[in-house]
Amino acid sequence: MNRRNALKGIGLGALGALGLSKTSPDASAARYETATRGLKPLKITKVRAITTSPMSARLVIVKVETSEPGLYGLGCATYNQRPLTVVTAVNEYLDPFAKGRDVDDIEDIWQHAYTSSYWRNGPVLNNALSGLDMALWDIKGKRANMPVYQLLGGRSRFAVDCYSHASGRDFKELEDSVKSKMEEGYRHVRIQLGGYGSSHLSTEPHYRKEGFGLASDGHMDSLPYLKATPRMFEHIRSTCGEAVELLHDIHERIQPIEAINLLKALEAYRPFFIEDPLAPEQNGYFKYLRSQTSVPIAMGELFNNPHEWMGLISDRLIDFIRVHITQIGGFTPARKLATLAEWFGVRTAWHGPGDLSPVGHAANAHLDLNIHNFGIQESVHFNDAMREVFPGAPTMKNGYMQVAEGPGFGIDIDEKAATKHPYPEHPGFWRPLRRRDGTAVRP
Ligand code: MG
Repeated sequence: MNRRNALKGIGLGALGALGLSKTSPDASAARYETATRGLKPLKITKVRAITTSPMSARLVIVKVETSEPGLYGLGCATYNQRPLTVVTAVNEYLDPFAKGRDVDDIEDIWQHAYTSSYWRNGPVLNNALSGLDMALWDIKGKRANMPVYQLLGGRSRFAVDCYSHASGRDFKELEDSVKSKMEEGYRHVRIQLGGYGSSHLSTEPHYRKEGFGLASDGHMDSLPYLKATPRMFEHIRSTCGEAVELLHDIHERIQPIEAINLLKALEAYRPFFIEDPLAPEQNGYFKYLRSQTSVPIAMGELFNNPHEWMGLISDRLIDFIRVHITQIGGFTPARKLATLAEWFGVRTAWHGPGDLSPVGHAANAHLDLNIHNFGIQESVHFNDAMREVFPGAPTMKNGYMQVAEGPGFGIDIDEKAATKHPYPEHPGFWRPLRRRDGTAVRP
């Protein structure tokens, strides 16, 4: 049966309800065109970077303006270690690329912006692209008058369950920190004895006495950390109970075989996950790690390239994919990554540190609300200055993150307030870290 014959079988009232009427094929086609597009075409008129630092991180926000006065979108392009390179990529390259394009065609714009530099998948250009991409999703939500999570299919949960960070230089200090997080309502707490790698336990920086490196370089040896970490878990389990889920971040600071032995030693304490057990350069080791231990593994905050995560997911070598979504190019690739992971039983734990803007945290949370295979989210707390600059920033309650229920990502920027917080002096690099003989350690 062709379409015209099919329509003959439907009453006029039903046709009206479908937005169709019994008119000429040309008129029907015109109405179909209007009905499917729904909204008048809208062009990108400007893409620009806004810099601000209401807390310590050097944030980069991308604002995309459109041919409809007052309608704009916001995206996160924050790369705290190299922010000015991202600003250049946005203002000098993405703005002329995007101007005049249809704001509705997010996928098309993403694909062409991604390859517009020919060379791709690095943190600078991915962050710039993320800013543009998130801003287009924000605009689409505003055009639909819906939160972005609604555009994806609605909620899978009422709010976003989060973990918080506890640390202390000794077991008692850490225990107190965990208990205070539990009192705040968190059911998941990441535990670290001191900073990453418990480097305060390393006391023999021989390289300094020999004048190797700079006096300000950090020091960490594996053995003190490897001995202390299982004891840390034992102490927290025995003093804080079984109800709390415990997480820990190795932060890629030890050798692959040391990571395998450490995870085996932690099995008895039932970690919720161990994060970044290996450096991304050692992805080939995951199959050996997986075959040796059942401790859940979270990986990926340093990933930029799809080839870094595809095999880990399709071979079921990790339990949580933990990318920093601005580092992989924004909301569009993160949504696809979440779907890939769902089919392989891998859950999400998007990176949510202090050097992601509130717009980026909101984007994480909108995805978390929608996807079925959400695992856990890293929590964040904003100071008053941050909330003044970013009205509608996500909030925390009882260990859950909640988004503002506005259209788009529900968040705005007060550009005048943003100018009150220029970038602080910042060396722009991670402090070098060395073994006792001076050998460089991954950060
Ligand atoms: Mg981490």
